[in-house]
Amino acid sequence: ELANMMDVSVTDVISTCMSLGMFVSINQRLDAETLTIVADEFGYEIQFVGTEEEEQYNLVEEDKEEDLQPRSPIVTVMGHVDHGKTSLLDFVRKANVTSGEAGGITQHIGAYEVVVQGGKKITFLDTPGHEAFTAMRARGAKVTDVAIIVIAADDSVMPQTVEAINHAQAANLPIVFAFNKIDKPGANTDRIREQLAAMNILVEEWGGKYQTQEIAAKSGLNIDKLLEKVLLEAELLDLKANPNKRAVGTVIEAQLDKGRGYVATVLVEEGTLRVGDPILAGSYSGRVKALFNERGGKVEKAGPSTPVQVLGFQGAPQAGDRFNAVEGEAEARNIANKRLQLQREQGLRTQKHITLDEIGRRLAIGNFKELNIIIKGDVDGSVEALSDSLQKLSTEEIVVKIVHKGVGQISESDVLLATASDAIIIGFQVRPSASARKLAENEQIDIRLYSVIYKAIEEIKAAMEGMLAPEF
Ligand code: GDP
Repeated sequence: ELANMMDVSVTDVISTCMSLGMFVSINQRLDAETLTIVADEFGYEIQFVGTEEEEQYNLVEEDKEEDLQPRSPIVTVMGHVDHGKTSLLDFVRKANVTSGEAGGITQHIGAYEVVVQGGKKITFLDTPGHEAFTAMRARGAKVTDVAIIVIAADDSVMPQTVEAINHAQAANLPIVFAFNKIDKPGANTDRIREQLAAMNILVEEWGGKYQTQEIAAKSGLNIDKLLEKVLLEAELLDLKANPNKRAVGTVIEAQLDKGRGYVATVLVEEGTLRVGDPILAGSYSGRVKALFNERGGKVEKAGPSTPVQVLGFQGAPQAGDRFNAVEGEAEARNIANKRLQLQREQGLRTQKHITLDEIGRRLAIGNFKELNIIIKGDVDGSVEALSDSLQKLSTEEIVVKIVHKGVGQISESDVLLATASDAIIIGFQVRPSASARKLAENEQIDIRLYSVIYKAIEEIKAAMEGMLAPEF
């Protein structure tokens, strides 16, 4: 990575290390001091941002093994439009209010927590669909532990189902499938199982690893069983967090409320957030004036995997922003200002993503191993043909991985996925939507459009051989 940033070869970096008396290998991590010295040899000065900032200000306190306690899973519901995501989320939310503690009607604050049988808890992200999920992931937030993918049993596996599966898999999430609307006359869950099997997704009842549950989200039939399966998946993950330290989490949503000022929903991931804590998210700081749960009830504190509404930010942070409770308010303000300054200096420049032209350079540097591709095309046949041919281009040095493929124009969701998985997008006989093109420009995602299959293959092949002539 260092070689890449300095635009020199890995061998040069290694031999420089050796000349300084350090015997390092290609994938060895260098500490901050070494990085500074080595970069200096090449005439670069290193500035640490992000994690180094966390270290500098001790934003995240380290945990000892014995400090870790089990935490509840955080779940996202995804699937094709009209397959019942909202109905499922609504049912779970309402069922919880009647059976749960007293309080007002559950409001939409972006996430909510439910208590299931046995007293175990699950936290649901209340924005159905993979766009929100992938948008957060593209910003570096990894808040979900398990994905529920809803498929209407009276319909079939649809393009957005496939997208949801790919997005969940790209994030390495365990998936539980909810076959919904089984009350409907045309429901046929075996047809869905078959369609999934055709995508190499074998469900448990057919000897595979994916759990499924037949449900009717509208009436709530079998939703308890679905949640049990989610808990089972979560158990395998052995989720733990330390509740006894300053809170760390992610901003789920934020807005300006006329009466209350800036209101942000944050999901606490580690530590415990308390009223009075100085806080920091993105380039905004503040102090917790009040905390509310999803029933609008005031709470004094929120521990790991708990969503809470926070009053007291001096601005609205963005969904996906990292959130920290900090030692002092002055410190929070100080860090927020520094971040703001850095943002301005960089002109909001985003991370550089892979482009076809870049491949040759990265190959020469020797740190390019996997080419992620998203394919969109006008008909299924050509998408499949292109996908097969491109995968066959894989060599010992570079593996071609098709992160997602589908029929239809290139959408914002495709660009978000490309951002999250550092992929290039290939459009065959299709174009990007206006909003997708704009997002791709902002995020510097390489979109290549072709109308002849062999042209696409030739160009990718040339790029992989490091021989693509730069485009002018
Ligand atoms: P979303 O677009 O995935 O969020 O889907 P919705 O939750 O809005 O559901 C789409 C439609 O399907 C609505 O009219 C729901 O009432 C209906 N629906 C959802 N779940 C069920 C179910 O279990 N049975 C039946 N019969 N209809 C359902």
